Amino acid sequence: MTRPVPEPTALSAPYWEAAREGRLELQRCRHCRHWIHFPDFLCPRCGSDDLAFEEAGGNGTVDTFTVVHRVFVPGFADHAPYAVGWVLLDEQPGLRVFADFVGIPADRLRIGLPVAACFTDRPGWGTVLSFTTP
Ligand SMILES: [Zn+2]
Repeated sequence: MTRPVPEPTALSAPYWEAAREGRLELQRCRHCRHWIHFPDFLCPRCGSDDLAFEEAGGNGTVDTFTVVHRVFVPGFADHAPYAVGWVLLDEQPGLRVFADFVGIPADRLRIGLPVAACFTDRPGWGTVLSFTTP
């Protein structure tokens, strides 16, 4: 069974377009330079609507994670066990993104582990953000 693929909205489309090209781009306020994720219509820091997408470095640390052993989502049964979680990016305190972890044994994953963005192919759709060891 095929895995579900992301469904971009008008607001999130630039994020997904960049991901499909292997780049991590996040929304950023042009007024106060605050990074914003998930994408929003207004900057939560200064209220500006002058927002754009910029490329982020992709380095960060694991904020929290889970290892999935029992699969309830169609298309992932042959993928388990797999790990997903939130990564705190180096760009800004509290800025975090959600993704899966690849190439890191489950017993090595821990909160605070340094990780780096990479991209994995989702057949029939394109690449999506993942994290691995730097
Ligand atoms: Zn702002």
